[in-house]
Amino acid sequence: MPLPSFVSAARNASLPALAPMASVMGLGLCLFVACLAGILSRPTGFLSSFWPANAVLLGMLLRWPALAQKASWLIALVVFVLADLLTGSSLLAAAWLSAANLCGVACGWWFLHRLDAPRLYLRRQTSVLYLLVGCTLAAAGSTLVGAGTGPILFHASWAETAMMWFSTELMNFMLILPLILSIPTCSASHWFARARSRASWTLALPLLSVIATEYAAITLGGPGALAFTVPSLLWCALAYRLFTTTLLSLLVCIWKIATISWGMLEFTPADLDVAVSLRLGLTLLSMGPLAVACSQLARSELLRRLDRAVSHDSLTDVLARGAFLAQGQRLLERLQHPQEPAAVLMLDLDHFKRVNDRHGHAAGDAVLRAFAQTVGEALRPQDLLGRVGGEEFAVLLPGVRASAAQQIATRICTAVRAQRLELSPDVQLRVTVSIGVALTDGTPQTLAELLQRADVALYQAKAAGRDGWQLSTADSDNPQLEARVGV
Ligand code: GH3
Ligand code: MG
Ligand code: MG
Repeated sequence: MPLPSFVSAARNASLPALAPMASVMGLGLCLFVACLAGILSRPTGFLSSFWPANAVLLGMLLRWPALAQKASWLIALVVFVLADLLTGSSLLAAAWLSAANLCGVACGWWFLHRLDAPRLYLRRQTSVLYLLVGCTLAAAGSTLVGAGTGPILFHASWAETAMMWFSTELMNFMLILPLILSIPTCSASHWFARARSRASWTLALPLLSVIATEYAAITLGGPGALAFTVPSLLWCALAYRLFTTTLLSLLVCIWKIATISWGMLEFTPADLDVAVSLRLGLTLLSMGPLAVACSQLARSELLRRLDRAVSHDSLTDVLARGAFLAQGQRLLERLQHPQEPAAVLMLDLDHFKRVNDRHGHAAGDAVLRAFAQTVGEALRPQDLLGRVGGEEFAVLLPGVRASAAQQIATRICTAVRAQRLELSPDVQLRVTVSIGVALTDGTPQTLAELLQRADVALYQAKAAGRDGWQLSTADSDNPQLEARVGV
């Protein structure tokens, strides 16, 4: 089964058209900014209360797998040590803390990079549980190496340092990784165009409800206030894209940490219990909206695939009969206001039974696939092509008058005649097609009526010797038409 487009796009995602070295330098720059943000959040004499650099590194290595190379790990080590040294840490502290950070990222990467792409990129209902395991491993890995700095550098016990370290790392990974893993694969202009097409004031309601419930949480306070925003975030998860939901979850958690801790909580061993509990609680709360967003994405992707399987013919990948009739009828009705012309072609392969009889059904199937592709290439993007019977196809050409319809029919006949299907080095198959053409000037007519007329014309094309097209007799009285039969 082919990979869904987002997966191949994400897997191949080079950092937009940058050379490998420039990508690695870009990673280094992002890490440096993230390190500075972490160092600025460091309370006097203890570890940072917010350290996004490790999660940013892990996220970028997973999101752009081309970055997962020795040069990236080396640059990360240099940036971690440099950022610490520049902000006044001793060489021992800088080296030890950096080793712990890299060890955590390596543990998370070891587990997460083995996941299949849909699971890693949060397109499966279980994605969030795998993410939790990966983030727990990453947090535990860096805690094991880093907690020893407590007794030596920060006058705190090993256990206290380990608890503070683990809780902050888990929170950082669980909030930042989903954001990076769900960065949209399309270009910014395409993203804005899609956002504009969906824009409506009702779309702002989930966001407004987040603000309202956050206001209620601040006003009422108390331990339960931590969960007030959960329903609003769940609403966001159902209404918005995954990326938007992860961004909102991150902002809400940062906001909660800031408002709850403001003036009353130090992220040091002095407030160990409350700080650890707050971080773990917020981390686990953020999993709810994330799980809903992942399920929603998995469900809509499944529906898209189901819809495609139902509406497309599995052999030729053109529209199946039912979908062609339904979409064609809708298109015709749109063309009737204002009155726009259209043409319908019925196509039938000539002497196709002989192909099956002489070369077998597999060869016949290959001919049908090649034929559908050739016809598709001769059409415009707005035209509809469907398989309406065994070796019978139909085309609806919106906005097309008699002369253009004749040109298209001639183009299809020529392209099919020129097509060669190589069965073996010395057996080449060639086929021809007969086409019946029916026209409408936009006056109310059903697709079934047009197909019926095109079908009658098709039989006339067969009777006239095949490998050509015939215009429906109802249209052939039209004085604009120069020819009624074409080859
Ligand atoms: P004509 O020029 O009059 O159209 O002759 P023909 O042999 O093409 O016409 P006919 O309708 O008698 O034969 C159509 C054949 O198409 C019969 C059937 O076995 C074959 N066919 C229908 N569907 C498929 C398919 O999915 N795969 C293959 N290999 N053959 C198919
Ligand atoms: Mg036929
Ligand atoms: Mg037939």
